[in-house]
Amino acid sequence: MRAQVLDRAGIPLALREVPEPRPGPDQVRVAVSACGVCRTDLHVLDGELTEPKLPLVLGHQIVGTVVERGAGVSSLAVGERVGIPWLGWTDGTCAHCRSGRENLCQAARFTGYTLDGGYAEQTVADARYCFPLPPGLDDVHAAPLLCAGLIGYRALRLAGEAPRIGFYGFGASAHLLAQVVVAQGRELFAFTRDGDVHGQAFARERGAVWAGGSSERPPVPLDAAIVFASPGELVVRALEALAPGGTVVCAGIHMSDIPSFPYEKLWEERSIRSVANLTREDGREFLPLAARLGVRPEVTVFPLEKANEALRSLREGRFTGAAVLTTRE
Ligand SMILES: [Zn+2]
Ligand SMILES: [Zn+2]
Repeated sequence: MRAQVLDRAGIPLALREVPEPRPGPDQVRVAVSACGVCRTDLHVLDGELTEPKLPLVLGHQIVGTVVERGAGVSSLAVGERVGIPWLGWTDGTCAHCRSGRENLCQAARFTGYTLDGGYAEQTVADARYCFPLPPGLDDVHAAPLLCAGLIGYRALRLAGEAPRIGFYGFGASAHLLAQVVVAQGRELFAFTRDGDVHGQAFARERGAVWAGGSSERPPVPLDAAIVFASPGELVVRALEALAPGGTVVCAGIHMSDIPSFPYEKLWEERSIRSVANLTREDGREFLPLAARLGVRPEVTVFPLEKANEALRSLREGRFTGAAVLTTRE
């Protein structure tokens, strides 16, 4: 089969013929039809996430069809459509796993990072970590729900009720979560790169009541803000935009250093927290909700052969919405 292979950080992916993967116990072999491209993939490519399996197939927003079952798999049938997310395996026995926080399992394995992912024609995944997908979305439109949507939703949940919420960075995750926030009757404030009028117009189309540059202050104080983009200074900008008691949630897996700031910005019970990974429970909650609300990403589709171009376009912010690789024409 063909796969886009990362041999080491800092060099482009190489399109290569590799042996078909074999499903081990509890695993299924999946014919990949679409795989979302995530900013995390750039962090792995750039060596900012330092412990990838190498060589590695990137990609953790995989939609495909089960073509073979390994020993012990009964939950999925051959021919079934599945979604494969970032959380690929946990030990199930540690204190985090046993308290509903498998996202924090220290032994966890991650798709497209410590396990091979979906920038390929086929992959294998543990059946217990695969999700059924909402029937209303085709494969390329379902793919971004699996990380941009799902981990974004976890960040939204950690932001609390927050009637006025700000999104810093309006990319794959934010444009999906905007639909959820608007459906919940909240006011959304969107912050893009300064001067990105195109991105700001896109945010307004997606229901933001206000959109501006990240160095601007919103017209009213916010109850919560989610930082989707990776520059650390955005954490301080977001903190400055908060009302007393507000929360900044950092949704990315990697950020540049956060500059120091005076304590008075944090004073009055403002807080800063991160969100890490996902639990299967998050998926069981978000995917049906997304279907019910009709959450639909705007996608830019690239063929598998153009994975490097897709990553470059993401880095340069050359499209709105989410990028998705497809193995089909
Ligand atoms: Zn565990
Ligand atoms: Zn991701």
